[in-house]
Amino acid sequence: MKKKFPPGVATGNLVEEIFQYAKEENFALPAVNVIGSNSINAVLETAKKVNSPVIIQFSHGGSLFFAGKSLNNLNEKAAIIGSICGAKYVHELSEYYNTTVILHTDHCNKKLLPWIDGLLTINENYYKVFGKTLFSSHMIDLSEESLIENIKISKIYFKRMKKINLTLEVELGITGGKEDEIDNTKINFDKLYTSPKEVFKFYNELIKINSKFIIAASFGNVHGVYNKGIISLKPEILNNCKNYINKKNKNKPKPINFVFHGGSGSSLNELKNSINYGVIKINLDTDIQYSFTGGVRDYINNNTEYLKNQIGNPQGKLLPNKKYYDPRIWLRKGENNLKKILKKTFENLNNINRL
Ligand SMILES: [Zn+2]
Repeated sequence: MKKKFPPGVATGNLVEEIFQYAKEENFALPAVNVIGSNSINAVLETAKKVNSPVIIQFSHGGSLFFAGKSLNNLNEKAAIIGSICGAKYVHELSEYYNTTVILHTDHCNKKLLPWIDGLLTINENYYKVFGKTLFSSHMIDLSEESLIENIKISKIYFKRMKKINLTLEVELGITGGKEDEIDNTKINFDKLYTSPKEVFKFYNELIKINSKFIIAASFGNVHGVYNKGIISLKPEILNNCKNYINKKNKNKPKPINFVFHGGSGSSLNELKNSINYGVIKINLDTDIQYSFTGGVRDYINNNTEYLKNQIGNPQGKLLPNKKYYDPRIWLRKGENNLKKILKKTFENLNNINRL
């Protein structure tokens, strides 16, 4: 069954409707970390081509990069302005591309909270003027804190977000590996697996406030791609969580909107199982970075003789090389390779022609 969602950035109830639709139809949305116009355009182009909804997200580091690396980030000002600029860019273009986008911010640990504080103020002001928020959702990741602290602070933010219909993503357990400025390469392996009891506790506290939340519950997830063997993914943990909640609450078949972090390099089976257990958002960063760079790398390797000088190449000593070194040529190669990998991911997530 196809469902129609309006083009542009989906906010408020629409976000929940899209997630619900994904659960009913057994598909998930790729959540792509973007860092600039090239990655955003490539994501929009792919989403348009597959005619399906997508999540575009800015990490803290991605936001800083979007604003420009030279800026002083005192009080998170540069990260805030970077996120805002990125968000506005996505708003304008997603409508024009005729694509439905959920606009999100990625991991925000305790010390980065001023970044989200600033964005919430912007969302509140935006809501007053336009009747909708600038972002669709934000993640607050207090998985390094105790569960009690995690729940306590998340609830404070969730209550504030409820007033403007914003969706919250929380994290339980820890995603291993390294991404952006978050380095969890040296943590205890036990931390990589959440228990259903903890998820139920968190779920129960949040559902009392509002239903607009999604949970990243760790099941051996690792940011980045590593040699297999050290840590194994156990998506059945999500199934146990879902069953545990259903037993306690006699709930819907998929009571929780789960998020899969560290999805890069996962097998098709792992993805399918996760979707069956309620995963609706699969984060993609590492594979996206590698695909963009791969496109540029191959172009440079294949055209080295045309990039050494402005004039003169194997075809002739006096021939100009402008059409080889123009950055638009090699940046586009990066975009094209990103599109190829992302399209494959849409297929793997059963998210084709959903609009
Ligand atoms: Zn993550």
